[in-house]
Amino acid sequence: MPSIEAATIDDLRHARPAFWAGRTAACQSSLQIEPAQVQQAVDRLARFAPLLQRLFPELQASAGRIESPLLAAPQMQQVLGLPQSMGQLWVKADHSLPVAGSVKARGGVHEVLEYAEQVALEHGLLADGDYTQLASDAARAVFAQYQVAVGSTGNLGLSIGVMASALGFKAVVHMSADAKEWKKQRLRNRGVQVVEHEGDYAQAVAAGRALAEQDPRCHFVDDEHSLSLLLGYAASAANLVAQIADAGRVVDAKNPLFVYIPCGVGGAPGGVALGLQQVFGPHVHCFFAEPVQSPCFMVEMLAGSGALPELGAHPSVYELGLNNLTEADGLAVPAASELAANVVRGFLGGVYTVEDDTLLRHLCRLHDSEGLRIEPSAAAGFSGPQALLQSAAGQDYLQRQDLMAYMAAATHIVWTTGGLFVPDEEYAKFLARGRELLA
Ligand SMILES: *Cc1c(COP(=O)(O)O)cnc(C)c1O
Repeated sequence: MPSIEAATIDDLRHARPAFWAGRTAACQSSLQIEPAQVQQAVDRLARFAPLLQRLFPELQASAGRIESPLLAAPQMQQVLGLPQSMGQLWVKADHSLPVAGSVKARGGVHEVLEYAEQVALEHGLLADGDYTQLASDAARAVFAQYQVAVGSTGNLGLSIGVMASALGFKAVVHMSADAKEWKKQRLRNRGVQVVEHEGDYAQAVAAGRALAEQDPRCHFVDDEHSLSLLLGYAASAANLVAQIADAGRVVDAKNPLFVYIPCGVGGAPGGVALGLQQVFGPHVHCFFAEPVQSPCFMVEMLAGSGALPELGAHPSVYELGLNNLTEADGLAVPAASELAANVVRGFLGGVYTVEDDTLLRHLCRLHDSEGLRIEPSAAAGFSGPQALLQSAAGQDYLQRQDLMAYMAAATHIVWTTGGLFVPDEEYAKFLARGRELLA
């Protein structure tokens, strides 16, 4: 009988849904991030809240906080066939995040604000500590001399572009050929320069990075290496912890928390997992979800634990014979962020993959059961609970972690990472395809 890991690799290579579980002796983090670093991001977002409230009418009600609710999802739980004896299903509704319409509002906004703060301090714009000053004409004239650039499949570009242009920066977004047309249009409408690149996401990032390096007044948001992005995502834990308590859910050794997060390069799920790990320690189990053709983080984890010896230390999905083609444009990434991988390797619960058709089914199910409107990328989390409970690798993980006796008390949080700005006609097409698949 092949080992569990050999079976996982076989599924991976054949683009079948695969499950890899971590927390073995081979899984060690090589980079430690301190809670104080995450707290700095939390504090920065709080300092800027009054300014954001002024810049974005949609942030009036939240006093400048970019936040999403934690929602009970009992109907979706039933539709997914997850029995109560295995815990309760919840949705962290980042698909509704204002300003950027996706989880990128967390990391992307944080990094632009960190850069703006640095420029403002250099120019003496924050002498009295009043951040709303940064909306003044004088401050905007300073920001206009600087540029913020990014390479993106779409959503990161939306977040960076909208935030940077709102502050008065020049904003440039380098996009891959597979980026959706409506995302490019939305950026252009905001005065953001969109540069289109042939090839995939990694190539768009590389081209943008090379151009930005020639200009000292250009800040390049580097999705593959940015600590600022990661910390912005990690800052989400502070509010989520309060939401979990408000929901009456307990997290400890006898009340495990499972979190399922769609994964592209790994920065968003990596940051979220980091933030939660710092609060809940081993009692939170984060699982990253990837398309079957773009499982870059699973590949990175396997390679890092020596399970793919024929490939290098940091292989792309192409090297496994996969094509990185998926409807989940936010997740169409061929190689993982080594930064995110080095941070989470030691505590990550695991990574699993999902077929595109399944994403569309989940999108439709969530619409019909809970009335929530998400994009295909954001649906990957919903395969998590069943994949964990039904795969050999998932069952092995639950046994190794001594969790089987406590599943009835488990909380399962599915992170829905995007959707707010999907145009109605695009969404209607996704819905129709999902409905056809479910019929
Ligand atoms: C970007 C994105 C993700 C994943 O984030 P990474 O930092 O690339 O791993 C997940 N869902 C959506 C909708 C996204 O846009």
